[in-house]
Amino acid sequence: MDKTSKKKKIALLGSTGSIGKQALDVIRQNPDKFEIEVLTAYSNDVLLLKQALEFKPNTVVIVDETKYESLSERLWKEGIKTYCGEKSLEDVVQMEEVDLVLTALVGYSGLKPTIAAINAKKPIALANKETLVVAGDLITSLANQNQVPLLPVDSEHSAIFQCLVGEFHNKIEKIYLTASGGPFRGWTAEKLASVTKAQALKHPNWEMGAKITIDSATLMNKGLEVIEAKWLFDLQSHQIDTVVHPQSIIHSIVQFEDGSMKAQMGLPDMKLPIQYAMAYPQRIASSFPRFNFMDYPELTFEKADKKTFKNLALAYQALELGGTAACALNAANEITNAAFLQDKIKFLEIADINEKVMQQAYFVKNPSLEDYVNCNDEARRIATELL
Ligand code: NDP
Ligand code: MG
Repeated sequence: MDKTSKKKKIALLGSTGSIGKQALDVIRQNPDKFEIEVLTAYSNDVLLLKQALEFKPNTVVIVDETKYESLSERLWKEGIKTYCGEKSLEDVVQMEEVDLVLTALVGYSGLKPTIAAINAKKPIALANKETLVVAGDLITSLANQNQVPLLPVDSEHSAIFQCLVGEFHNKIEKIYLTASGGPFRGWTAEKLASVTKAQALKHPNWEMGAKITIDSATLMNKGLEVIEAKWLFDLQSHQIDTVVHPQSIIHSIVQFEDGSMKAQMGLPDMKLPIQYAMAYPQRIASSFPRFNFMDYPELTFEKADKKTFKNLALAYQALELGGTAACALNAANEITNAAFLQDKIKFLEIADINEKVMQQAYFVKNPSLEDYVNCNDEARRIATELL
């Protein structure tokens, strides 16, 4: 292939995850438009090696140091550089050749690499919503200062963003983030008390990583998305509404000041928003399956049950409180989500503990990066004690 053509060179953080693998599918289908410069994983060296041999990046990072030696030996033969450790993620995103950083790692781990990429003036395709939940204020002001676009990958935010093309100067009255409702839509607290991990891991419409699948079942995911939307689109909490739409065909809606509403729709397939963020401002042809109205004679809507699914209410509280409140909520949720996956707590205890941590954690109204780091550490410690 012609190395001099203007292909977008991508650093894909979290290439072995659900979003990462789908991003590689998009690149496989568009070898004339995109090229992989960097691949990273936490500890899945087997898949990372396979991906590296196929996509021939310049550099790979395996965060888990115990996997470094054998991987680097193998990739050295191919002329591919290998690094390990968390700090390497911050270094590789700054490489001169990189045109776009796709952040598809999970949780708080995305924060520092994203900051490093923005400081190096790299456009960001952002899947890692937790980064904006933890430190949305800091990330968005840094992106503004550096004139770096934050291109949403999350399907709801991609929908809003697509509705806003051509409208960026028009005021938004409000937005509606759609929610599938997850596997427990309509369930009572009584019924939820005894749900199992296996039930929670069965999402009706999307196949995703384990953490976000549990977050979808508890509606924490929608809560994190409300906070993500605040920062991406500069909205107040009263302008962000949610609506349960079990078919997941309408991906979200913008309502303008004249009352007009624009929605973006299509079959649920993350490859579309991934490709849109990667190719923006262009749309590129795809062979993704097309929507057929006759397969969906009814699109339905319901109110989200914030009383039973308390995590969504907690996210709104965190938005009202501002400062480090959302950072504490996110940290607590990373601990409780993982504890539920390890059968250490029950389903409803996830939100109960999240709530207690939010009440007890260190709070700073106008936080610096150091405050966010301290709040994250402290909230994790409190949540772990409460397990
Ligand atoms: P996965 O769990 O499937 O993948 C996570 C990726 O990040 C893997 O490559 C993993 O490596 C790596 N990783 C995990 N922990 C760390 C760490 N501490 N440091 C560095 N790398 C790490 O997650 P998803 O792909 O489902 O989600 C990624 C992000 O995208 C999340 O923020 C999620 O909320 C968001 N998102 C996901 C959607 C989806 O459909 N999956 C939809 C919308 C948003 P390894 O494989 O080695 O563990
Ligand atoms: Mg989403």
